[in-house]
Amino acid sequence: MSVDKVLLATPRGFCAGVEKAIKALAWMVKIFPPPVYCYHEIVHNHYVVEIFKKNGVIFVDDVMTVPAFAPLMLSAHGTAPDVEETARTNYRVVINAVCPLVTKVHHEVKIRSKKGFNIIYVGHSGHEEAVGTMAVAPDSVYLVETPDDLEKIPVADFAPTALLAQTTLSQDEWKDILDKAIIKHPDLWMPNRGDLCFATTNRQDALAQISHMADTVIVVGSANSSNTVALTKVAKARGAKQVIRVNSDSEVPDNLSGVVGLTAGASAPDELVFKVIEKLDPIKGYEEVGNVIEEEYFPPPPELRELLKAMIKAVEVGVKFDKVDKNPLDFDREINASNSLALLSN
Ligand code: SF4
Repeated sequence: MSVDKVLLATPRGFCAGVEKAIKALAWMVKIFPPPVYCYHEIVHNHYVVEIFKKNGVIFVDDVMTVPAFAPLMLSAHGTAPDVEETARTNYRVVINAVCPLVTKVHHEVKIRSKKGFNIIYVGHSGHEEAVGTMAVAPDSVYLVETPDDLEKIPVADFAPTALLAQTTLSQDEWKDILDKAIIKHPDLWMPNRGDLCFATTNRQDALAQISHMADTVIVVGSANSSNTVALTKVAKARGAKQVIRVNSDSEVPDNLSGVVGLTAGASAPDELVFKVIEKLDPIKGYEEVGNVIEEEYFPPPPELRELLKAMIKAVEVGVKFDKVDKNPLDFDREINASNSLALLSN
């Protein structure tokens, strides 16, 4: 390995929605005896999911397999309304860790379908976020993945028309479809700034700044993470000579050289990024590129906040908890998801 320098895209890695979801599930692990159940992977990252599995979390794809009275978390990607309703039967303790920005898209689908719109939804078939969002109004939503898919929509039925999207698409992918949709449907309605979330666009913009300077771009993240895959597309489109996605440092090839650009998907922890730098061992070290500072904080899900408030009350009347020794709501704001995972790993 003779890597000269690493250009480190900033921001990268955990976004506010992922922080919220990981910390919420970590709270569940602290509060309830195992097993805690989680509908779908809490976030699409192998490393994160494995830590939770080691702490007694069971991930399921069917909420009916979760026993009555068991604690159940719904993942960050959002859940179909009928699945959530089913989950809340049989006295399960259900806490929904959906990212508020995904909830916003669910809301848009609900409102537009009620107003009689047909909805073009740009997303990836089978991705959990797309499945959950489309299920809000299945009779009104048409999935498109490419500009050509717009031709397959029954145009005669379309008046009025709205254009919504999965939050984690690549900006290029979205723009190609948007440009064509505007031509086909001149009265198209869409949310002011579209549905791609701030975390997705910030990570892509930072990576776009370094891709053309890199001999190789490494994207840390899992193959089933939509925003991670979007980052690989951005790097290729912006001139990186070679783009590699890795789950961890162990997958980094030994023969890299020159300048390496490095970033991570929104569900990949920064500790993995720094392990990659350690492995690359760049002669001139690393330089952070990008000047957007993300300060968003999403508080715990409402059901969990109620639970934490009950714990505060219990502490006030003298109940002692093994693993929580200060106001949990203050603690949630102070701690980050990497700390939560580290505490679970110890
Ligand atoms: S990538 Fe965007 S939509 Fe997804 S969890 Fe993060 S902030 Fe929320």
